[in-house]
Amino acid sequence: MSEPVLQLQGLAKTYGAGSPGEIRVLQGLDLTVGTGETVALVAPSGAGKSTLLHIAGLLDVADQGAVRIGGVDLAGKSDRARTTARRRDIGFVYQFHHLLPEFSAQENIVLPQLANGVSEARARDRALHLLERVGVAARAGHRPAALSGGEQQRVAFCRALANAPRLLLADEPTGNLDPATSDQVFDALMALVADTGLAAVIATHNLELAARMDRVLRLENGRLTET
Ligand code: ADP
Repeated sequence: MSEPVLQLQGLAKTYGAGSPGEIRVLQGLDLTVGTGETVALVAPSGAGKSTLLHIAGLLDVADQGAVRIGGVDLAGKSDRARTTARRRDIGFVYQFHHLLPEFSAQENIVLPQLANGVSEARARDRALHLLERVGVAARAGHRPAALSGGEQQRVAFCRALANAPRLLLADEPTGNLDPATSDQVFDALMALVADTGLAAVIATHNLELAARMDRVLRLENGRLTET
């Protein structure tokens, strides 16, 4: 197998532990994803996909278990170490684009690069290159409100990849789009992943899209099984 980018080992997460309404969302979950590998995460609503992605993305913490990014376990590290690793190594995409409304598509991709110390000229070039790759370069100067839902989500992918992370995590990235748009937007995402050699974990309800990834994993009873 290729070099592991993400390794989750023995992850456990319970909400409301000890209360009558306790929910055991993750129960000893393991997952390894290598460079250039795409993994679909499928499960019914409420099974714990978002919880899993947030823990893998260092946005939330598990009760137990290891979260290794590039071989380093960040589960017990300081907030500062986790934030640094998240900014450098992880791109996150949500169902809704969450672009900044007062900035253009290109600026939305430039800003995270400036925050990472990249010069403005280089950041602008990279933003345009990414927009070209997903077929939205002609809309670079438009604000999100002037873009279609599919275009907004393509821009959100570019923003997630702005700082060349090694791991992409996406939570129902096409869940808000009609089937035809969803298909095209997904193609754009796969092209970006293939270009960059990213490892990607993508939660989706769409089994046709899931089947286009290298592996399809089902989240059930707090663990993952190959389908
Ligand atoms: P999915 O993304 O698969 O829909 P989630 O990870 O959002 O699932 O949620 C898994 C379960 O955990 C659900 O029953 C949800 O209600 C519960 N849950 C999620 N977040 C919290 C929270 N912060 N506090 C309590 N329960 C939560």
